[in-house]
Amino acid sequence: MLNRMRYTTQFLLSALAEAQFPKPSAREIAFLGRSNVGKSSLLNSLVGEKAAKVSSTPGRTRAINFFALEDEKHRTQMIFADLPGYGYAKISKSISAEWPKFIEPYLAERETLALCVCLVDSNIPPRPPDRQLLEWLSAAGRQFVVVATKTDRLSGNERTRNMAALKRGLEVEDILSVSAKTGAGLRELWARIEESRG
Ligand code: GDP
Repeated sequence: MLNRMRYTTQFLLSALAEAQFPKPSAREIAFLGRSNVGKSSLLNSLVGEKAAKVSSTPGRTRAINFFALEDEKHRTQMIFADLPGYGYAKISKSISAEWPKFIEPYLAERETLALCVCLVDSNIPPRPPDRQLLEWLSAAGRQFVVVATKTDRLSGNERTRNMAALKRGLEVEDILSVSAKTGAGLRELWARIEESRG
């Protein structure tokens, strides 16, 4: 992948509280989705195994894991923030009781947060918690892109049908479809991430 070659990924830290967030510097891209949606696999495809491994290390799955993407001169070009996967509980008013208290402030207040990458599984019908999260992000004035994962599991017809159902159910106009397995859609996702530079 072009962009994967352009950046090297440095793990910064795992934050379990607001006080542990890194000092705001480069623009941040947050990755969100329910557990098992394919977030680690996608991060792995985007920036390399290190990020995925750190994020799935026990004890770090409930943290926000921050990674710096550096250019060849070791300058940080952007930061990826891997948010804990949310579960099957209702998201409800304040995203979710399951979600540690520092996640909502991160999404609402983090000044350097430029884009939220919201993952949904292309094989699963739209689910209310995902829609609630998108509604919440809209209300918070956050830019987001919805990314449907694991599209390699679908035939062409199924994909068309499922993407239409997801757009309807989540009430979004555009969804990027990706496969960490085949690499399909990753170029488009990188383009979207680069665009968030504004
Ligand atoms: P996470 O819990 O969101 O980090 O999800 P993982 O990345 O661990 O993936 C959950 C499961 O989905 C694993 O069994 C992966 O092998 C599988 N998976 C993830 N991405 C893809 C994909 O693009 N294609 C297929 N076929 N399976 C995938």
